[in-house]
Amino acid sequence: MTDLDIAKKATPIHIADVAKKLGINPDALELYGKHKAKLPLSLIDKSKAERSHLILVSAISPTPAGEGKTTISIGLSEGLNQIGKKTTVVLREPSLGPVFGIKGGATGGGYAQVIPMEDINLHFTGDFSAIEKAHNLLSALIDNNIQSKTNSLGIDSRTVAWKRVMDVNDRSLRKIVIGLGGTGSGVPRESGFDITAASEIMAILCLSNNLTDLKKRLGNIFIGYTFDKKPIFARDLKAEGAMAVLLKDAIKPNLVQTLEGNPAIIHGGPFANIAQGTNTVIATKMGMSLSDYTVTEAGFGADLGAEKFLDIKCQSADLKPKVVVLTATIRALKYHGGAPLDDLKTPHTEALKKGLPNLEKHLENILQFQLTPVIAINKFITDSDEEIEVIKAFAKSKGVRVALAEVWAEGGKGAIDLANEVVAAVEENKSNFTPLYDWESDVQSKIETIATKIYGAAKVEYASRAKLDLKKIANLGLNQLPVCIAKTQKSLSDNPALIGRPSGFTITVREIEIAAGAGFLVPITGDMMRMPGLPAHPASETIDIDDNGTITGLF
Ligand code: ADP
Ligand code: MG
Repeated sequence: MTDLDIAKKATPIHIADVAKKLGINPDALELYGKHKAKLPLSLIDKSKAERSHLILVSAISPTPAGEGKTTISIGLSEGLNQIGKKTTVVLREPSLGPVFGIKGGATGGGYAQVIPMEDINLHFTGDFSAIEKAHNLLSALIDNNIQSKTNSLGIDSRTVAWKRVMDVNDRSLRKIVIGLGGTGSGVPRESGFDITAASEIMAILCLSNNLTDLKKRLGNIFIGYTFDKKPIFARDLKAEGAMAVLLKDAIKPNLVQTLEGNPAIIHGGPFANIAQGTNTVIATKMGMSLSDYTVTEAGFGADLGAEKFLDIKCQSADLKPKVVVLTATIRALKYHGGAPLDDLKTPHTEALKKGLPNLEKHLENILQFQLTPVIAINKFITDSDEEIEVIKAFAKSKGVRVALAEVWAEGGKGAIDLANEVVAAVEENKSNFTPLYDWESDVQSKIETIATKIYGAAKVEYASRAKLDLKKIANLGLNQLPVCIAKTQKSLSDNPALIGRPSGFTITVREIEIAAGAGFLVPITGDMMRMPGLPAHPASETIDIDDNGTITGLF
């Protein structure tokens, strides 16, 4: 059975009944049909949120298929509810682009899914569209100002970094020339499109605490320079109010349900490379206000997603997680031990053992934040008992809690052990969350701290472009921003080919982008794709709908 088949078989309960489990009065809901609702921000309660236990689900360095963080997050949340802990899972919204490109949704898998999965993977409640509109409004305001004779800020159009966005994988829009057609149709300049998830507005929405904070961040978006080298921000175009108006509903978290009828909040979906890769701060605080346990996920491996979650999001929003669940798969560990990507299904204990140092490094990294790790072995049907025992023995030797999670095959029942380990780790109360670096330290030392302590690099080198960017950042007075390093997820290093636990390597920072609105700097260490393309045979070829409105071919 496909994920879609399983999701379709489920009988969802009315969203008001899901809300009731969280003690929400149905009148407070803003209904989007029977199975989706937006939650008003007034439900966020600081003192209740402080008592909730925040659990972050992360992973070892993943293979291209993903190691199952979303699946484990959903399954763990079902398991916690099954053992009597009131739990909400809080996740990212999927991007529409990949849905029609390469199969693979972002709503979990097997018997650990959130529903209605077709809606969540398609337009959902329109948040992505609103983000796209707010982004493109600013783009239009910039070009309008460049055109204007009476209201000109004197923007040097060659310095404008702000592009346009669209939620379709369309590589032919990556680099374009706009403003063609004569004096009445704008000033020609080079520009391009990114996918909506890569918009800085997405990163901003996801870090904002409320509408006032949102407006402030929108106003802080850096656009470019005037001919006199004066920096121009979105606030100089008086854009933030109108942009915030477009986001008035998108700022509210979306309530849906898991296959077992438990609450799931899905809100915001920034990229995990050039942005923080995790749902909105507002959604996390909402989950924490309404339940005793809040399970959430951050993109890619723990070197990227967890580090950014902890150093950027948690610091910015004053969140203190209790436990980090490290998702490990036997197939990925075999890959890190040298087994070829197309042969990860065959039992291979030797390769598995050789791959364990990758897991070991991620465990050490979690401990550097003074957080308690729990290993979740995400069970695939191809895993052998002997292989599972190897990981369990390794965890024991490290004194780390471990559980086999069979959530893909069994839903919450398959996560009872994991849920018990997580609760035991929370109750032990050994975590004392401490960020890795101080935002006030200088930009290079922040980058070097992450590179050496988390990635295991020997040193960091800066290309000449990056050195110029460091000067530009200092001139703009933005040294105190945290850093959101864009790096391959395939390796702990910046070279995707270095599997396992590499050491002695150099991290090369090519350039450093400024996301002044979101409130971070983006040191880039490789090629970053902001507008994906479609494969030769896109998934869209097999997606269809019949006269009854039944969809086929989605995942
Ligand atoms: P991540 O969040 O780490 O990217 P996902 O949870 O989205 O990973 O899972 C990636 C893909 O792998 C999904 O299509 C999911 O259905 C599948 N998957 C996850 N866990 C399992 C499992 N134990 N067995 C089979 N398929 C799985
Ligand atoms: Mg995921």
